[in-house]
Amino acid sequence: MFLKPLLKSKELIVYRILNSRMNLTSKDMSQYLTLQKGYEGEKDFNSLLEKLPITFLILNDLLLEKNNTFFQIDTLQIYQNTIYLFEVKNYEGDFYVEEDRWYSVATGKEIQNPLTQLSRCSSLFRRYLQDIGISNLSVKELLIFINPEFTLLQAPRNKPIILPTQLNRFISDLNSIPSQLSDFHYKLAAKINSDHVVENPYKQLPEYEYAQLKKGVICKSCYSFMSKLSNTELICRKCGFKELLEASVMRSVEEFSVLFPEIKITSKIIHEWCNINSIRTIRRILKKNMTQYYLGRYSYYTFPTQK
Ligand SMILES: [Zn+2]
Repeated sequence: MFLKPLLKSKELIVYRILNSRMNLTSKDMSQYLTLQKGYEGEKDFNSLLEKLPITFLILNDLLLEKNNTFFQIDTLQIYQNTIYLFEVKNYEGDFYVEEDRWYSVATGKEIQNPLTQLSRCSSLFRRYLQDIGISNLSVKELLIFINPEFTLLQAPRNKPIILPTQLNRFISDLNSIPSQLSDFHYKLAAKINSDHVVENPYKQLPEYEYAQLKKGVICKSCYSFMSKLSNTELICRKCGFKELLEASVMRSVEEFSVLFPEIKITSKIIHEWCNINSIRTIRRILKKNMTQYYLGRYSYYTFPTQK
């Protein structure tokens, strides 16, 4: 059962929106592609786990803290007697290992040893479990290379690594683990989930300002700008995706609030942000879908679930 399903991180969402609305620096662009690739790797790994019979609990993308040290876990899989801690890497191409150092064949450059990262993470997680009084479950950490185009030359043996060619066998090994979950496991998963730190203090976002961003509605499917098809519908001329105006505007409002949580949502600013329809139409859509705080010309809106 997926208790904490995989979602795009807020960081990735911000990069994706900004990439459509401004020119990212090459450093920001490479960070964006890294985040996107990482997310896709985790998604592929999750879809392999989805095929297994449900005898375990899954928590994705956790950020936990131990003595002011933060550590990130891609996927935790809780079985009756064992917790698997997976670090998923979506590396592509040929790599080699020499005396514990990892290099890319294409660039000849050294990369960060992913095993070091894994062992740091698993040792912090073991200490975290001790702190919350869990001693009856063993923790097994594994580095998963998900991309079929990845090769590790001189791969070290007896290390917790699953290469793409071993992945199917590994998944069927998981399939044969006898496991019966009890209330204890659900409570443990809920506890871990509640300790998840929502705001990542280390996330790095590009610098941006409202005025510099290109206004308009971004296509849900290919992220280019959409144009008006009729009074009630928009179309993306690049990929052909069509969407009702109301849905497009509300998507754009969500994007706006992710980028500018501190700016109040008003019909004036959303009209400018979407740059697609009359302010009257925008006001009608906001009124219908959001909670209005009526202050005459200073009226603003919040999402219905927000206080
Ligand atoms: Zn499109």
